[in-house]
Amino acid sequence: KKRNPGQPEFVQAVTEVAEDIFDYIADKEDYHKYQILRRIAEPDRVISFRVCWEDDKGNIRVQRGWRVQNNNSIGPYKGGIRFHPSVTESVLKFLAFEQTFKNALTGLPMGGGKGGSNFNPKGKSTNEVMRFCQSFVNELYRHIGADTDVPAGDIGVGGREIGYMFGQYKRLTNEFTGVLTGKGLEYGGSLIRTEATGYGAVYFLHEMLKTKGKDLVGLNAVISGSGNVATHAAEKINQLGGKVLTLSDSEGFIYDPEGITQDKVNWVKDLKTRKRGRISEYVKEFKGSEFHGNGARPWGVECDVAVPCATQNELNEEEAKTLVKNGCFAVSEGANMPTTLEGTHVFKKAKILFAPGKAANAGGVAVSGLEMSQNSARISWKEEELQRLLVDIMQGIHARCVEYGGSAGTDHVDYVKGANIAGFKKVADAMLAYGVV
Ligand code: NDP
Repeated sequence: KKRNPGQPEFVQAVTEVAEDIFDYIADKEDYHKYQILRRIAEPDRVISFRVCWEDDKGNIRVQRGWRVQNNNSIGPYKGGIRFHPSVTESVLKFLAFEQTFKNALTGLPMGGGKGGSNFNPKGKSTNEVMRFCQSFVNELYRHIGADTDVPAGDIGVGGREIGYMFGQYKRLTNEFTGVLTGKGLEYGGSLIRTEATGYGAVYFLHEMLKTKGKDLVGLNAVISGSGNVATHAAEKINQLGGKVLTLSDSEGFIYDPEGITQDKVNWVKDLKTRKRGRISEYVKEFKGSEFHGNGARPWGVECDVAVPCATQNELNEEEAKTLVKNGCFAVSEGANMPTTLEGTHVFKKAKILFAPGKAANAGGVAVSGLEMSQNSARISWKEEELQRLLVDIMQGIHARCVEYGGSAGTDHVDYVKGANIAGFKKVADAMLAYGVV
């Protein structure tokens, strides 16, 4: 806390990892001697820059952009770009820190980074978004590169924004390389990248259920968010036989007792990606559903499984207790750090199946890693091959969590601990190999 004043999200993320790592490293002298934990928790660098753009009325607007390059011990920095008014240096530092462990867990050679701006894309015209993205890259381009740092999408940054940024990078450098992932299929993107995070979070959930001899058939699921991750998680839950009861955005949540079936998920995707509308519009389209406004969150709705897919700290201690009381027995985090530290303790104590974002939502960056491989080799893999690799990678992450988070004599797995230790170990051992730098 003293080292990072005014950065609560970053301190929270480091605390959560440190809680699990302390025990693990207690008898490992080299990790102490070489101060590995402290070094991982200090980003390699934080780049902060001015982003100046002109709105449709001709006003000059000034915003701040960042790229946090946390650690490149096992591969080029890799992590998304977020455009949302809630973005601060603390939020990006926590995301870059988490990303380092997540990327290590995938088994692919990727370091950790994250970037973004407090720019609010809501209510902006397409031209305004384009000008902002171009101006953002006018500075960012000098810090990134296919073998240096490879950004991707995140909240507020989807296919459209990646297109504007990649186009500007290409123009400035005169190079066509895999410097960004999440690209359109016409210019180097990978099949199933768009679906990968939401699908992966549900594959992970499925793997956890399997350990208890269960599957998703007939289970009720509560999901938050209505963006890329939430809609694809909903899609996969439907495909595996579950019923999705809720979706949300920052204004509130919708509850559909009939279930948010694939047709309805398609309608939400169109609402959010093309019309750029609000989730409250759902109730006008689908009778029998309810909207709960004023920023209400869906965790009070009775369910068997919960998949938070909106943003950090959207599920607190009280809400975690409510979920457990209502019989929810599995939580798979599609978003990054959606559960507060106190909420995490509730799930851990109740010993429900609880997958932290750094394990459960790693499917997106994993397919981004596969996009990098395809770009380097200048080839495109088929959908079936990528689907197989995604399932394989999620099963591999699950196995690593079981290896490091299981405890002798019981079948309980602490997935948070398992993910933290497995991710840490890989990065830490690479850092040891490099000596003190
Ligand atoms: P989108 O922008 O597609 O959707 C974000 C959703 O979350 C929207 O419904 C948005 O509502 C809601 N949301 C965002 N901020 C807030 C807030 N402060 N309070 C309440 N609701 C909020 O983003 P993604 O689906 O891509 O990302 C969702 C989460 O998943 C993030 O935590 C992201 O870091 C994580 N993630 C994403 C990956 C990806 O591949 N896209 C990969 C790994 C993790 P509104 O429109 O009203 O703001």
